[in-house]
Amino acid sequence: MNTLQLYNPATGQAIEAVTTNKPADITSYIAPARAAQKAWAKVPFNERLQIIQAFGEAIIEQVDELALTLCKETGKPLQQAKNEIKGAQNRIQFFGEEMASYLAPTHAKNDPGTQEYLWMEPIGLIGNISAWNYPYNVGFNIFIPALLAGNAVFYKPSELVALTGLAFKQAFDKVGLPKHLFNLIQGKGEIGAALIDVGLDAYFFTGSYKTGVKIAQQLAPQLKPLQLELGGKDPLYIMEDVADVKKAAVNAAEGAFYNNGQSCCAVERIYVHAPIYEEFVAHFVEEVKSYNVGDPLHPDTFIGPLARKEQIPFLANQVADAVQKGATILLGGKAIAGKGYYFEPTVLVDVTHHMEVMKEESFGPIIGIQKVSNDAEALQLMNDTNYGLTAAIFSSDEARAEAILSQVDAGTVYWNCCDRVSPWLPWSGRNSSGLGSSLASFGIQSFLKPKAYHKRPA
Ligand code: NAD
Repeated sequence: MNTLQLYNPATGQAIEAVTTNKPADITSYIAPARAAQKAWAKVPFNERLQIIQAFGEAIIEQVDELALTLCKETGKPLQQAKNEIKGAQNRIQFFGEEMASYLAPTHAKNDPGTQEYLWMEPIGLIGNISAWNYPYNVGFNIFIPALLAGNAVFYKPSELVALTGLAFKQAFDKVGLPKHLFNLIQGKGEIGAALIDVGLDAYFFTGSYKTGVKIAQQLAPQLKPLQLELGGKDPLYIMEDVADVKKAAVNAAEGAFYNNGQSCCAVERIYVHAPIYEEFVAHFVEEVKSYNVGDPLHPDTFIGPLARKEQIPFLANQVADAVQKGATILLGGKAIAGKGYYFEPTVLVDVTHHMEVMKEESFGPIIGIQKVSNDAEALQLMNDTNYGLTAAIFSSDEARAEAILSQVDAGTVYWNCCDRVSPWLPWSGRNSSGLGSSLASFGIQSFLKPKAYHKRPA
């Protein structure tokens, strides 16, 4: 029996171990999953929905225990873990309200003698390889609509959140989801690669650009649908006309440092219009200094440890690269000595786009702030990236903000807010941030395949 040992990032100590899967397990799950999926697709939508809603309720009933598990596995501060678990429930609400209308046959056109209809059918077996940073949000984005649409799912959680993955399986079993519809596949990247090899009907991946590319290359000969939700280097531009510079700094800092900066849509680089640059930076540093860094179980902790030990040298290298090229450290800049995978909340100024910290996803508590002299320069810098997940502007002038946001090449844009996802809007990354969209109507249709029906009565 193979096992995966989990470690608590706050202490570096071993916690639980879970049993992992072998490629042969995946192969053996396929026939039962196919049979279960065919039966599930015939279950009326409302009955499927009742089971999914019961799953959501079962998760909420255990929120305290599940938040503790997530905190132990990832180092996410306990309150942020609870926020995530509760926040993910809006996916069930959205898909519950919206999906039925996409499943019904629709009449397209009548030609003389021929009627034209559209049927939507479930895709079949869905492979979902997922990330650890928001396992509830990114998991629910995929396996909830997949199951509601009548598919079966092979869910591979990140190896860092294997216990949360197990909790999803247990909650589905508890509420009576028919067997073989939610197949939990535990293990590291190798088992993810094995999941691609078995040839399910479509794949949905959330994770890094690097892994996304590997998966796309491996899957290419199969010509199977693939959706990729990848990383970002999301810009925020602060215009000089913001009503309250301090408030802008507080909100910008939260966008950059919430979940220790380990959010796909975290603010990763900030541009500030010259007239308010000094004032903004002073408030920003003051705000970040006020964050409590420490034990994620403590209710006042805002910044816990990083989930992965390897991220510490990665962030230290970004700081060293920036400093060597002329950046100034205003706060932090290094790992925190002692137990656990802690890195100081770090603020860098005098940064340029020659530095890694302004170009490559940091995924940690580190931010570069750059002064700009006008909107044109800000726009040019915002678009100077391979990524395209989100982009934000803080300003009092909606028209001025929209003039820029309409030219930013990103899947989501924000005015006076950031780091936000709504199931009623599509979630999609452009360029190296991904392929395809989850949530909204797009995130329903991607779990269905169309069948055109031309009907000519005898
Ligand atoms: P990762 O790419 O390291 O791992 C993601 C998943 O892929 C894990 O389950 C892992 O086991 C699996 N995997 C690794 N190698 C594989 C292979 N060769 N074949 C198949 N599967 C393989 O990413 P991560 O560290 O878990 O997540 C962080 C990244 O995810 C960040 O870049 C973040 O921005 C991104 N992310 C994006 C979104 C979004 O919605 N766009 C949401 C959350 C996270």
